[in-house]
Amino acid sequence: MQSLLDEIAAEALADPNPGSVASYIPELAGIDPHQFGIAVALANGEVYSAGHAEVPFSIQSVSKVFALALALGRVGDQIWRRVGREPSGLSFDSILLLEREDGIPRNPFINAGALVATDSYLAGSQPREALGELLRFIRAAADDERIHINERVAASEIETGHRNFSLAHYLASYGNLQASVEKVLGTYCHQCAVEMTCRQLALAGRFLVDAPRMPGLVSVERRRRINALMMTCGHYDGSGDFAFRVGMPGKSGVGGGILVISPSRAAIAVWSPGLNRYGNSKLGTEAMERFAHRTGWSVFGVP
Ligand code: GLU
Repeated sequence: MQSLLDEIAAEALADPNPGSVASYIPELAGIDPHQFGIAVALANGEVYSAGHAEVPFSIQSVSKVFALALALGRVGDQIWRRVGREPSGLSFDSILLLEREDGIPRNPFINAGALVATDSYLAGSQPREALGELLRFIRAAADDERIHINERVAASEIETGHRNFSLAHYLASYGNLQASVEKVLGTYCHQCAVEMTCRQLALAGRFLVDAPRMPGLVSVERRRRINALMMTCGHYDGSGDFAFRVGMPGKSGVGGGILVISPSRAAIAVWSPGLNRYGNSKLGTEAMERFAHRTGWSVFGVP
């Protein structure tokens, strides 16, 4: 495993085409795209890593996995009355289907659906308490108290988040938000601004690995369902492409991180800030394709 990761990291770091970093969140726009890290946390507790696996990055939409788990814990299956379970085939911040589908977002991993998940775990508490609970969940999953929120990134996104505000107002117009737009957006942007290293993210992702001795933060059934949604909806309009190339459930973020689950084996975190045309890490996706090919860990069978 170590030599495979070293090889993958060396190849990624030598790539002259890392893609371009997300520029719509000013705080993320200045990040050097020539960085790459990967970490694998195996079900037996071993962790392997290579490249910039100890550099903290903004997990952005990878946080939607933790948010959904927390929301499910808070409101249970009732959440499925307010958000669907189908891929959208549209970009992460699209508003298009909201009108056609009466304010019910397609899935919890596009921005509109994630705002509903955030609203669900807010459920009557103050943003500070809800974020405290989210951090406790992530820290418990990773067994690491150092994981924190980058306030500058959160503020930067709140200042420029016109599309997310529009999505929230649209949801509110259909009665699909309980808390105020400002509270939901403030909480959502802080949730996206959680910073982690690949090593921390792989360790945290183990709560989604269906294997003995994994942190029991969600029930087996919820774990399977979250994995199913990651497979079908975890990469926005690039979800089909990721399933085709990698064949494992994954959730990406515009910070360039991807959390990938090999259901009974391991959680894998990969990070490189340059993005492809779907807004998913370019080198991260390519690295995961190589990793899946070399390990044979696609859930659809050995290549
Ligand atoms: N905070 C980002 C946004 O809402 C998350 C998007 C992403 O990572 O894909 O625009």
